[in-house]
Amino acid sequence: MTAFSFSIAATDGRARTGTIHTPRGQIRTPAFMPVGTAATVKAMLPESVRATGADILLGNTYHLMLRPGAERVAKLGGLHRFMNWNRPILTDSGGFQVMSLSDLRKLTEDGVRFKSHVDGSEHFLSPERSMEIQRLLGSDIVMCFDECPALPATEEQVAQSMRMSMRWAERSREAFGDRPGHALFGIQQGGVTKELRAESAEALRAIGFDGYAIGGLAVGEGQEAMFGVLDYAPGMLPADRPRYLMGVGKPDDIVGAVQRGVDMMDCVLPSRSGRTGQAWTRRGQVNLKNARHADDPRPLDEDCACPACRGYSRAYLHHVYRAGEIIASMLLTWHNLHYFQELMDGLRTAIAAGRLEAFVADFHRLRAEGDIERL
Ligand SMILES: [Zn+2]
Repeated sequence: MTAFSFSIAATDGRARTGTIHTPRGQIRTPAFMPVGTAATVKAMLPESVRATGADILLGNTYHLMLRPGAERVAKLGGLHRFMNWNRPILTDSGGFQVMSLSDLRKLTEDGVRFKSHVDGSEHFLSPERSMEIQRLLGSDIVMCFDECPALPATEEQVAQSMRMSMRWAERSREAFGDRPGHALFGIQQGGVTKELRAESAEALRAIGFDGYAIGGLAVGEGQEAMFGVLDYAPGMLPADRPRYLMGVGKPDDIVGAVQRGVDMMDCVLPSRSGRTGQAWTRRGQVNLKNARHADDPRPLDEDCACPACRGYSRAYLHHVYRAGEIIASMLLTWHNLHYFQELMDGLRTAIAAGRLEAFVADFHRLRAEGDIERL
């Protein structure tokens, strides 16, 4: 069996491009992972997600443990088979969503007891149970169970929470055990405080992981604060392991994170905004709900090769969105995922060629021009 490994092919400034090797296939980095919350990237067939250029999907432990249940997925052959995606899958630990979505939480050193937001049933998540669930799902990249304090939080609260997450990281490592071909990632916490980020990185390095995530960002602190942390946080983590920025982001967040040495990201944005009539293009955001598109025969982006842009007009996309037709979600999600993956491909190619700076300048210049003039 191929072992899990990471190789860096080229660097440009702090940015890197390379390949994560797994038994289920390679992941080109920097990588964007579409989110398949409930064993589906909403409105997309798995082969269509692959056609946009995705090498890996993210699945949510919290959602899958509640519905349909990890033991059920395992009996049905694991998550890859269940959802018909045979390439790599990363699962989060459930820690973030149990704090943001569930009801009646009781958090102790042992773990979190909570009620399902689906049916009110009672559940318990701990480092050990999270490792068990992610193993039952068959995840290729498993995330440590951690806690992210709700904002606003004092520095003392952030420090205490981070230290508990580091103790949970050790328990996660212990419970994960030795699983050749599968990877376990630690998660750095510490909010926006450099000393806490350093303490967290030190604790994770002492335990030892296959990759390292930067957690606790993209939770409402704003881009400037996030980039402030990313100016130093990736450099605290081992250079020869993948670095994953969780929950990011908008196209300009992605570009800024890659410039600062991030290798992997995930976000619901391209799929979620596709379902609300929002499109992302090289010229920024386009709102297809807007009446200005009602008579516009031009494609969303005439240089885009996705099915939505090749076969349909802005007028059609506007119409099907307004009419509540399912194809609106299908086409706009496809376009958005295509755009995000094309952006990643452009970043990888630019880093490999040593011209990231010029690529980023072009990226910002086109966005600043804004959407095409109305007819
Ligand atoms: Zn398109």
